[in-house]
Amino acid sequence: GIAIRTLDVGKSYGGGETRIDALAEVSVDFGKGRFTAIMGPSGSGKSTLLHCLAGLDRPTTGQVLLGDVDLTRLPEKTLTHLRRDRIGFVFQAFNLVPTLTALENITLPLDLAGRNPDQAWLDTVIATIGLGDRLTHKPSELSGGQQQRVACARALVSRPDVVFADEPTGNLDSRSSADVLGFLHRSVRDFGQTVVMVTHDPTAASYADRVLFLADGRLRSELLDPTADSVL
Ligand code: ADP
Ligand code: ADP
Repeated sequence: GIAIRTLDVGKSYGGGETRIDALAEVSVDFGKGRFTAIMGPSGSGKSTLLHCLAGLDRPTTGQVLLGDVDLTRLPEKTLTHLRRDRIGFVFQAFNLVPTLTALENITLPLDLAGRNPDQAWLDTVIATIGLGDRLTHKPSELSGGQQQRVACARALVSRPDVVFADEPTGNLDSRSSADVLGFLHRSVRDFGQTVVMVTHDPTAASYADRVLFLADGRLRSELLDPTADSVL
């Protein structure tokens, strides 16, 4: 089945002579349990597309369908709730709460929603990020790679329909990047999670099972099974 899709999405900034068309006529499906990477030059619209998909930004035209819900038509408050319950987001800069421990950061979305954790799922996610006794440490006491694995666990804790990751390895060295990408990969392979990741790093993209290429705000091409291919 399809987890999320766009229909003819366009996004413009400004108006008149200074108008920038960041996205144009983007129609694309993201299947359940797939790991998609979105690549393209700087300024090609990757972040804009990810933000429109995740309900962080509203397209100027077109629809974004999460299941049968059109995110572009939801009032702000409904969208906020839907994001909290059904969408996970991982940022380049980790965005953890500095005063909370790793474990408290991971369960924060549940606490904010007033939901009890599914303990078996929480245990599985925590075991998979491999943080050991550092779960009780604050973000400042963790390496960049550990912080980003905590951020990934936080994105997964509500069992969202889709996890979006915007350059998740952009601030990490190659060893830490491999840890984070391995975690995202296992969440897809072992738990059937749907992941959509923006990256400019071909090594990061090789963890995905599909790569979309954007240029000038348009979808240019698509590569299936990048791991079996040497194009990247
Ligand atoms: P990428 O993620 O591929 O680098 P972006 O989605 O960030 O590309 O940007 C696509 C285009 O939209 C660029 O030309 C960028 O300058 C423009 N853009 C992005 N955000 C804004 C904004 N808030 N206001 C005006 N222009 C923007
Ligand atoms: P595991 O031991 O559970 O497979 P790893 O962290 O070694 O954990 O790798 C997680 C997943 O990422 C593996 O399934 C592997 O196929 C994939 N993987 C590892 N390295 C790469 C790579 N360079 N490119 C693409 N996929 C990779």
